[in-house]
Amino acid sequence: MMRLIVALAAVFVAFISEAWARDAVPSPQARFVVLVTIDGYRWEELFRGADASLVSDPAYRARYVDVPDRAQALTPFLLSFRNEGVLIGDRDAGSCARVTNDYWFSYPGYAEMLAGRPNPRIRYNAAIPNEDVTVLERLNNAGAAVRVFAEWDVMPAILNVARSGLSVFIPADPEALHDPQVVAAVRAQLATPPDVLFVALGDTDNRAHEGSYERYLAAASEADAFLREIWDAYQSNPRTAGRTTMIVTADHGRGGAESDRWTGHGSGRWRGTRVPGLRHAGSDAIFAGVRGPLLESAPAYSDASCASVSQIAATILAAAGRSDLAQPDMAPPLAAFADARE
Ligand SMILES: [Zn+2]
Repeated sequence: MMRLIVALAAVFVAFISEAWARDAVPSPQARFVVLVTIDGYRWEELFRGADASLVSDPAYRARYVDVPDRAQALTPFLLSFRNEGVLIGDRDAGSCARVTNDYWFSYPGYAEMLAGRPNPRIRYNAAIPNEDVTVLERLNNAGAAVRVFAEWDVMPAILNVARSGLSVFIPADPEALHDPQVVAAVRAQLATPPDVLFVALGDTDNRAHEGSYERYLAAASEADAFLREIWDAYQSNPRTAGRTTMIVTADHGRGGAESDRWTGHGSGRWRGTRVPGLRHAGSDAIFAGVRGPLLESAPAYSDASCASVSQIAATILAAAGRSDLAQPDMAPPLAAFADARE
């Protein structure tokens, strides 16, 4: 009889502690960060919507051009950051965000974004392990759970996975569309969010380089729908609801609509030389959006006080409540951020 009581008590204790663990919520200070990048997505489409001069397909014109509000028709969720958070980079409204590296293409852009400053030695897109330590590596070393899902197969080098130990998903099939593979992999883990999630989408850039403006628009729409899906998943999870900051930005912009300069990007500098034909004026211009519980009133980043993609690194740390990991040479977090060091 005694043995039975002991056995029953053990089962009861196991049941109670399992139930407690399942219901356990993190401390009120626990914070979650979601960074999503939309490679080479232009501020022009984000704030103005589709450029009518570049859309000929009737189905796409019906969906993106002949509509009451072209911007709303394209990326409504990201635009909601204007009211629910901050959204910087609408140059038509005097709001400015840009990359501060000299190249205006992807590796220098992501490296600047994640390390908090441009590195003049990063001059090309080859998969050379990054000598800089990114904030994702710092957070990982500090014990945060960090997961990365990237469309671009150079991302493991940018995050220096051999040194950082970060695990980075990249698409298994490089010939198929990249973003849907990334979306499926993220979706499979959305129910168990890590402390820091980085989703790097890029079919916007891939389709633009191919010169397919319609498919570039579609990739942006799909990215926006997935932003909403991630946000909704985090807000419906008691662990992460009200404790999650979402940051959305791009590694560079693109050239203007005239003469199809929009298909490319870059300052014209390449491997330390200047190639004037490669210059795409204005492709240093980007957007940056932040939404979450720690925001103060929206800042004004005018031409004279342009926001920089360098500021994303310290913004990630502030959002994670780990500003103590910031380095002296990092750009400060975006001014919309409340001091998160308490
Ligand atoms: Zn590109």
